[in-house]
Amino acid sequence: MPDRNIVVLTAPSGAGKTTIAHRVLDALPAMQFSVSATTRAPRPDETDGEDYHFLSPEEFRSRIDAGDLLEYEEVYPDQFYGTLRSEVAARAEDGPVLLDIDVKGALNVKRIFGDDALILFVAPPSLDELKRRLKGRGTEDRASLQDRLDRVEQEMEKADACDAVVVNDDLDVAVEETLTRIHQFLDS
Ligand code: 5GP
Repeated sequence: MPDRNIVVLTAPSGAGKTTIAHRVLDALPAMQFSVSATTRAPRPDETDGEDYHFLSPEEFRSRIDAGDLLEYEEVYPDQFYGTLRSEVAARAEDGPVLLDIDVKGALNVKRIFGDDALILFVAPPSLDELKRRLKGRGTEDRASLQDRLDRVEQEMEKADACDAVVVNDDLDVAVEETLTRIHQFLDS
C-alpha cells in the first residue's frame, strides 16, 4: 500500500460528515470510498455493497474471529460497524482511501497508521444545533436517536486528538476546508 493514503472523516452522528464525504468523493475522483461492514439494518435508500456491507451479527462475529477487520466498534448497543482490511487494501490499489467512521474507530486508525493517515473531525457549530439536526433527520426511531444523543458529548471531547477540526456551519465552507486539508496531506 502506498504511504500517506488514508483519509478519515469522523464526527458525532449528525454533524454532516457523510454529506461532506460525498462532496469530497465528487471533487476528488481518484479518492476511493471504503465501504464499512455493519450489523445495523439498511435504511430505505441504502444499497448493500455501496453504502455498507450489511452483515448478520453471526457473519460480523466470524469476520472478527478471522481477523478480517482493521478496526471495529459497537457504535450503538448491538450495532457493530467495522473497516474490512480487504476493503482498504483493494481500494488503495486505485487511489487514496476515504473512511467515514466513528471517533473511536478513527483514533484506532491513527494508532495503526500514524502519519500515514489524516484524521479530520467534523464538528457541528454547537451541541444544540447538532441535536436539532439529528432530530430533524428523521431516520432514527426514538431509542436510536437517544443512543446517538448520548454519545455526542463524549465524542466531542475527542476532537482534539484528531489531526484537524473542520466546523460544519456553512456546508460549502466546510467542504472547501476539508478539501484543502486533504490536498495538503496528500501532497506532503
Ligand atoms: P450510521 O448508522 O449513521 O450509518 O453510522 C453510525 C456511525 O458509525 C457513524 O458515526 C459512522 O461513521 C460510524 N461507522 C460507519 N462505519 C464504521 C466503521 O467501519 N468503523 C467504525 N468504527 N465506525 C463506523
